[in-house]
Amino acid sequence: MEQQRNDRRRDDAQDDDRPGDVMSGPRPRFAAWTRTTNAITRHMVGVQPPGSINLAGGLPAPEIYPLDAVRAATQRALDRFGQRALAYSPVAGIPELRALIAARYSCPGRRLGPENVLITSGGLQALDFIGRVLVEAGDTILAQFPTYLGAIDAWRPLGARYAHLDWTAPHAVQSAAAAAAKFIYSVPNFSNPTGALVPLERRRALLAACREAGAVLVEDDPYGALFYDGPPVPTMFDLEAERGDEGPYRGNVVYLGTLSKSIGPGLRIGWAVGEAGLIQGISLGKQGSDIGTAAFTQAVAVELLEAGVDRDVHDRMIATYRRRRDALVAAARAHLSLRFDFEAPVGGMFLWLTAKDPAFDTDGLWQVAFDEGVSYAPSSVFDSAGRLKNALRLNFTLNREADLEEGARRLGRAVERHLQRPRDAGAASRETMT
Ligand code: PMP
Repeated sequence: MEQQRNDRRRDDAQDDDRPGDVMSGPRPRFAAWTRTTNAITRHMVGVQPPGSINLAGGLPAPEIYPLDAVRAATQRALDRFGQRALAYSPVAGIPELRALIAARYSCPGRRLGPENVLITSGGLQALDFIGRVLVEAGDTILAQFPTYLGAIDAWRPLGARYAHLDWTAPHAVQSAAAAAAKFIYSVPNFSNPTGALVPLERRRALLAACREAGAVLVEDDPYGALFYDGPPVPTMFDLEAERGDEGPYRGNVVYLGTLSKSIGPGLRIGWAVGEAGLIQGISLGKQGSDIGTAAFTQAVAVELLEAGVDRDVHDRMIATYRRRRDALVAAARAHLSLRFDFEAPVGGMFLWLTAKDPAFDTDGLWQVAFDEGVSYAPSSVFDSAGRLKNALRLNFTLNREADLEEGARRLGRAVERHLQRPRDAGAASRETMT
């Protein structure tokens, strides 16, 4: 019932958003799932007015993109791959890149080859394919809550149901939940949106529960290299290898990586690594989508990885992001702590703030903040049912320190204005926003 109400609410909003009637004939009716998309997401990715501070997106700092290294790698890729760089690539990826990725994750206890790797157009595409090849009507995905918006969007056409992954549940409860799900979706390193880091013991526990249940565990790890304090925590994929037997990989983890955060999202290079048969199955999604990731960017990626460009960029990236994280946390303490609780994240790209008042509505705040010249991601977009309203996500990697401080100041002002407005005005604003 609640879900239906949400869908209707979004349906109306989408109609508001559509361009005017320019088609000469009647416009076709879009499939039902398109009417479940979240209107705020479309505002978030839309054009920002000049002077506005964008704390909404999950974007890297553009000044860190290694332009010179990419220019040189492109030249080398064309010299080395020649016509292959402009041809179709094999569906699962060019062998050189698959082998490089396989070598990167091979370790004692886990021998990986190209057959364990699927190259995708960004990590998000791997999520799309995993959903497409595994989920059938009525299936449940056991996912971290709140959940990465891109995954929710990718799985929207499938009509998937969701159950909330509880990292702290007792073993028997976790195993039963895993057994009832088609697969488990997790982002243990600096989750999007909350920035939370899952401790080692909880990773081990989930791995054990999934193993017992015979369930596929998708570990999505775009932020794993973005640690600002303390040593990294081993991935579940690596923990799984501890019991390996040196033979081909037989485990139940599908690990997802990407160059988006380490080099640049414009390359659209991601990968899924897992048991060969599972990877082959997931590749069926690729075949029907784009026949293969662009050979050109794959060839450039081979050159970039062989030259260690991601490692070269890493130190500067960490230093910059750590400073920005500190700046946003300090600004949030100054301007937002009266109304919100939060913890400083130890890595990743996001600060998650939960309103002290459980009835606070961050969908309603959005337009007020936008008018103040700042945007953020409201919690509702990270809930497949759109019900989570009392939190918001701020990004700290895109903007310089002074803009982060100013953005938090504007948001603090917007919060007070929002709380002072007459109730009716608030309701009107919510209707236009959601
Ligand atoms: N997973 C998560 C949790 C993310 O936050 C992102 C990027 N926003 C991705 C996957 C995919 O990124 P890309 O497609 O650019 O590799």
